[in-house]
Amino acid sequence: MGEERSLTLAEARRLIDLDTRAIEGRQRVALKDALDRVLAEDLIARCPVPAHDNAAMDGYALHARTSGEESPRSLRVIGTARAGHPFVGSVATGECVRIMTGAVMPDGCDAVVPQENVAVEGDRVAIDAAPRPGQHRRLAGEDLRAGDVVLGRGRRITPADLGLAASVGEAMLDVVRRPRVAVFSTGNELRDVGQALDAGTIRDSNRYTLIGMLLRLGAEVIDLGIVRDDPAALEAALIHACGATVAADAIVTSGGVSAGDADHTRDVMRRLGSVAFWKLAIKPGRPLAFGHIAAAGRPVALFGLPGNPVAVMVVFYALVRDALLKSMGARPEPLPSLVAQCDIAIPKVPGRTEFVRAVATRRGETWHVRPTGAQGSGILRSMSEANCLIVLEHERGPVEAGGIVAAWPFHGLV
Ligand code: AMP
Ligand code: MG
Repeated sequence: MGEERSLTLAEARRLIDLDTRAIEGRQRVALKDALDRVLAEDLIARCPVPAHDNAAMDGYALHARTSGEESPRSLRVIGTARAGHPFVGSVATGECVRIMTGAVMPDGCDAVVPQENVAVEGDRVAIDAAPRPGQHRRLAGEDLRAGDVVLGRGRRITPADLGLAASVGEAMLDVVRRPRVAVFSTGNELRDVGQALDAGTIRDSNRYTLIGMLLRLGAEVIDLGIVRDDPAALEAALIHACGATVAADAIVTSGGVSAGDADHTRDVMRRLGSVAFWKLAIKPGRPLAFGHIAAAGRPVALFGLPGNPVAVMVVFYALVRDALLKSMGARPEPLPSLVAQCDIAIPKVPGRTEFVRAVATRRGETWHVRPTGAQGSGILRSMSEANCLIVLEHERGPVEAGGIVAAWPFHGLV
């Protein structure tokens, strides 16, 4: 793959997309365990939902046209239909059945008169207004007909989908297996939580942010810890990630890919596979290595993210997220985006996409966004305090106070 070049976000996304394949392998899981999993097959309704015409309200079931012409109509109550206990028999002209919400409509009935609209007189009821055929009746198959696609292949299962699958009687679902993603941080300066900080060292925070984002996305994470800035250590880590023990589908690393870094990263990654080193026209998060490592024969996707803690998150959301979703067989869903008024001016030059950490609040009908303090790409606190990222598009110039911007809310992003 190519030498270092500067790419727009859109170009980088397209190149990654072109080079991303869906993983193989599926699993049958209990419905309760299927939340957020990706459906491997279309789910087809084996029965209609609801299975029978039924009452949408508590009241009296009758046949609208034969309920009589006189006003008020007087009908004889010949029985009761409850949810789970249908009325047996049929209902003739001048008759009705007491019915509860969800109960099967008795034979001969096509409408329900709500109980608040009748006057009960012994075993008869009186109705003022003429009932409309079909009123307060739910039709069999109104939600789903037998043979309908309930949920399409590639769907990431939501709580509503769990209920929908239950409504057609599915106790198990066929889902794509979780992708195995190996994660490690590179840098001699990095120490893990729990280790002492000696002179010049910092905590490895990126691995924890990455693990969080990957788990939210539904990946199985294999934590390979901190790897020294040393060709042999890097090579060993990549080979281990690809080998039979870890068997990663993808590797996500942070650090060691910027232009100022020692060339050994490039040498090792190139030797073990086919990896491009890009300069992205985005801020924060300029450097990115992307490609495949083929150390164990089969190509394993590699995302070499920048070292800066905020850049790691931005590049993950802007580039890695969609690629991993695609590899999981998920149908692409557009990123949720707010249209918001920016409360303060933001300097911006055309020619790169910029991401600004911000807090979005709603005032009246309008969403407002305000950047969170210092935006240095190492300042993770401002990411934690933010609830969205303002996205300033490639061609855009400065934002004036009150200008309209797009923002990705974190809620729903992963
Ligand atoms: P690099 O891309 O390796 O040159 O790293 C850029 C900056 O990010 C440096 O200040 C690093 O110390 C910092 N950095 C790199 N990796 C991590 C990490 N895992 N956790 C926190 N900071 C990091
Ligand atoms: Mg480094």
